[in-house]
Formats: sequence, C-alpha cells, structure tokens
Amino acid sequence: MRCPCRETLYTIRGMKPRYEYYVCRGRQMKLGCHEKPLKREEIEYKVHELIRTVFTQPAVLRSLLAKRFRGGALRDEQQQLLQRARSEISRLKNERARLLNLRAKDLFSEEEIEKEAHRINGEIAPWNATISRVERDMANAVVTDENIAAAAIASVFAEFESLQKTERRNLLHKFVSALFVDGGTITKATVRVPVGSVLKLEMPLTKFRPFFL
Ligand SMILES: [Zn+2]
Repeated sequence: MRCPCRETLYTIRGMKPRYEYYVCRGRQMKLGCHEKPLKREEIEYKVHELIRTVFTQPAVLRSLLAKRFRGGALRDEQQQLLQRARSEISRLKNERARLLNLRAKDLFSEEEIEKEAHRINGEIAPWNATISRVERDMANAVVTDENIAAAAIASVFAEFESLQKTERRNLLHKFVSALFVDGGTITKATVRVPVGSVLKLEMPLTKFRPFFL
C-alpha cells in the first residue's frame, strides 16, 4: 500500500494492543509526510469493499478501464500506418496543387492536366480508405481490450468472498501490485491482469469515493 507521498505504508502495533495501524514510512522517517496512521481493520474493510463493489463487477471495471485504454494502449503499428497515410495524402494534395498551378500557366493541354488529376485522385482514395479502416479497427480494439481485461479481473476475484484469510492475502499479493491510500480512502489500484501475457493496469478509483466513506 502506498501513501500519497509515494512512500510505502506498513503496519505497526498501537498503544492499545488490540489495534494495528498502517503508517507511512515517510512519516516515520520524518521525511515531511503528515498522513495520519490508519487503523488496519478499517483499511482491510475498505479493501474488501473495493473487491466487492469494483473488482468483481465487470461493468464497473469496464468503465474504469475505458479511459486507460483510450489513453495509452493504441498499437504502434496502427499509429505508424495512420501517420504514413496522412503524409501520403498531404504529398498527393501538394502535387495536385502544383498541377492546378501548371494549368494556370497554360503549359499543358487541358487533357493532360485532366489525366494527371485523375491519377492523383485515384491515389488519394485508397489512403483515405486506409485511414477509415485503421480508425475503425482501433475503436473496436479498445472495446475488446476493456471487455477482456474487465472479465479477467472479475474472474480472478470472483471467489474472493468464499476464501480463507490467507488465501485472500495470497490472491491480493499476486494480482494487486499497489493500492494508493489517501486520507483513509483507496484512490487508485494497480492490478496485474492475466490476459495471455500479464498486463499491468492502473485504475483511478476516486469517483468511487462514496463507497468507501
Ligand atoms: Zn506519506
């Protein structure tokens, strides 16, 4: 678990022996952090609520992951193809503009100009088609990725409620690489999603704050 100051939270036993607390390493080491210690059982309850209301709910996960995929997961290959198509189109349009310039100067016959313009337009069309196709593929890929990742996370945590305490801890250690806690609220989670290879996803949970207050 992480503090807003990015330092690690760890547990200590409180004055009342019954309670354990999570405290920030940055606060303990007097590195300028002022986050208050958090009761361990309260944080554990919130982790449990997070799993119940978010990690086991594919629809909720999809909406949290949508932004993540739109923000950064566009494939390089597709991006490069888009870039190439756009630069080819702009090159051909420049060529067409030069051609119209030649017409104005009366250097070529109307027929020659027509023929050349026809060729240029014929080359622009497939590049435009490429752009439409790649953009459509990218939009579809976004939906698929969100669905796959959401389903994978939900299935990993589906049995959580029925597990023993140590099994729960093992599951969390295996699939959740960081939980960010701010003022006693879990604001962000980094989850390792097993979809073919392992994908690391950071999810902002701030809009789910009301669940945890
Ligand atoms: Zn701190």
